[in-house]
Amino acid sequence: MLSRRVGHFVESVIRDMTRLSLKHGAINLAQGFPDFPAPEEIKQAGAAAIMDDHNQYSITWGAKELRDELSRKALEYNKIESDPDNEITITCGSTEAMMASMLSIINEGDEVVVFEPFYENYGPDAAVSGAVPRFVPLDDELNIDEDALVSAFNKKTKALILNTPNNPAGKVFTNDEMKLITDMCVEHDVIAVTDEIYEYILYNGKKHISIGSLDEMRDRTITISGFSKTYSVTGWRIGYAIAEKNLTSGVRKVHDFLTVGAPAPLQHACVRALQMPDSYYSDLARMYGRKRKLLYKALAGAGFKCRMPDGAYYIMADIPDGTGMDDMEFAKYLVSKVGVASVPGRSFYNSGAGMRKLRFTFSKKDETLLEAASRLENLNV
Ligand code: GLN
Repeated sequence: MLSRRVGHFVESVIRDMTRLSLKHGAINLAQGFPDFPAPEEIKQAGAAAIMDDHNQYSITWGAKELRDELSRKALEYNKIESDPDNEITITCGSTEAMMASMLSIINEGDEVVVFEPFYENYGPDAAVSGAVPRFVPLDDELNIDEDALVSAFNKKTKALILNTPNNPAGKVFTNDEMKLITDMCVEHDVIAVTDEIYEYILYNGKKHISIGSLDEMRDRTITISGFSKTYSVTGWRIGYAIAEKNLTSGVRKVHDFLTVGAPAPLQHACVRALQMPDSYYSDLARMYGRKRKLLYKALAGAGFKCRMPDGAYYIMADIPDGTGMDDMEFAKYLVSKVGVASVPGRSFYNSGAGMRKLRFTFSKKDETLLEAASRLENLNV
């Protein structure tokens, strides 16, 4: 009875692991959300917006105050100029922004270039919109393999998904890589759809670059981000897409009929979020930098081989030698016997490479990470 479309993907493994984690009373290092409170000012602003009667639909493409503030933020931080009236759409999380973007630009059979490892959602985004994904593996050092990128483009290529900082590997794309991607997009008349949800979570002095800020990409990029990760409000579901007017008109049409609009009071609270001082963002990156080291030490101590990410809040770890288990088996063993939930690597790979890996998040209180560390010490493989 179901459509072929939904036959092409499975339910989210990340959220499935959260359910398994609850069942086993495990520490959830699977799904990337904070277990600590959102900033007080932002919570207050959310409560106040409800009491101030912002409880009916906002304009379908988003409250004007929020689009105005976002346009300012995008210019200051992302170096992207935008007309808030015609080039910004507020969505239900960046997840909706990505799906609405794909639905508004893809024709059945169009190809979409996706770097591997990739965030789980892009497969279903492609399946639902009718796109054929072309995976381009990053090399062992997480650099772009230029030959692989060049050979992924052809007459059918319509879009490229660029997630920087990347989930799950924490790769931050460099200026030179942006230029290479730009050359390919311009040559083949391709649209970049970005996912910049971790744009403020950077380490090792890395800088965030939005490909939409490059002149040649201005009119061929849909820049997507949201409030979930930067302000620790993943349950609010407020994201956005910034794109040139014609692209925006497509995104807005799909968004309107999918959701009518994002939660109105929370959009008002997000205006407040965008007024946080610069120190808020440096403190956020510093806090995650500390948590990154805590988790790295715990994983390395338990025999996992892993690399420190340059951004986002995940560590991809190689399963220790000699377990005789693949990623799915080992993730199930960890959650049920050790009491730590992770995500099997296969969720992030089209190739078999993920079957030797697990993803752990460090978006948790220090005490949660320390408890996970002590449980992992008992790992006996
Ligand atoms: N982006 C987060 C992760 O990768 C949360 C995923 C989700 O459940 N939407 O874990």
